[in-house]
Amino acid sequence: KGERLRLPPWLKTEIPIGKNYNRLKNTLRDLNLHTVCEEARCPNIGECWGGGEHATATATIMLMGDTCTRGCRFCSIKTARRPPPLDPDEPFHTAKAIAAWGLDYVVLTSVDRDDIADGGAEHFAKTVTNLKERNREILVECLTPDFRGDLAAVEKIALSGLDVYAHNVETVRELQRYVRDPRANFDQSLSVLKHAKKVTPTVLTKTSIMLGLGETEQQILNTLTELREANVDCITLGQYMQPTKRHLKVEEYVTPERFAHWEKVGNDLGFVYTASGPLVRSSYKAGEFFLKKLLK
Ligand code: SF4
Ligand code: SF4
Repeated sequence: KGERLRLPPWLKTEIPIGKNYNRLKNTLRDLNLHTVCEEARCPNIGECWGGGEHATATATIMLMGDTCTRGCRFCSIKTARRPPPLDPDEPFHTAKAIAAWGLDYVVLTSVDRDDIADGGAEHFAKTVTNLKERNREILVECLTPDFRGDLAAVEKIALSGLDVYAHNVETVRELQRYVRDPRANFDQSLSVLKHAKKVTPTVLTKTSIMLGLGETEQQILNTLTELREANVDCITLGQYMQPTKRHLKVEEYVTPERFAHWEKVGNDLGFVYTASGPLVRSSYKAGEFFLKKLLK
């Protein structure tokens, strides 16, 4: 105990850079968009921004500032009890910038704003509506907070015109208290996903869990089963990586073979989309899949 695990070879590989990457990278500067892809130094950026075989450009944009009211033990985002107020122009500016940027698929996400009455749901929904007004082709996924279980807030976003409603349960049921901020929990997150599906049955729901935090295989299986029973359509599983020494340690580097196993389990359980691999992040290659699925 106490020793840090060594990085296994499968996490050291370089990911190819697709052909749109430089174009997006060069035009981003003037747009004043905050991408999680760059700020979290996501290893998939070359592939997501560049597009794979189908040249589908995907990026994740952060709304509502860079400071969160929560402090999950795996996350490196800054925290404060009272972050700066929302920028009322953000829904317009961001929508305009995204529409101009040339993406096929965008993930809009945010910090948790427990300091605001509706958690920022209105702000989030306005961004989607504005974006869709400017660009009807672009597919929009919202990766939302849990809004402390406020289903009216969930509903506002679910009805905003988005294509995919995502909310991450982050880890198995048993490790929620250890991994996430105490204001989050499994059942609350499940209620968010269930409600989004209930109010807009045609919108796909999606969640994500990290592996390598000390969960057992039985716990993973139970969690996937519960999510499927709650009608969650899509699931991604990826390796947890410790962002700094102050964050939770990696308990295990799950092998690519085990990740492949979970992908099969996800498919067998009936998820319409399961992505599972050491470098899979919640938005990884989302564009490629959803573009085919939703525009068929
Ligand atoms: Fe950006 Fe998500 Fe792709 Fe990483 S996986 S580059 S955060 S869209
Ligand atoms: Fe990070 Fe989200 Fe947790 Fe905030 S709520 S600390 S942004 S994972």
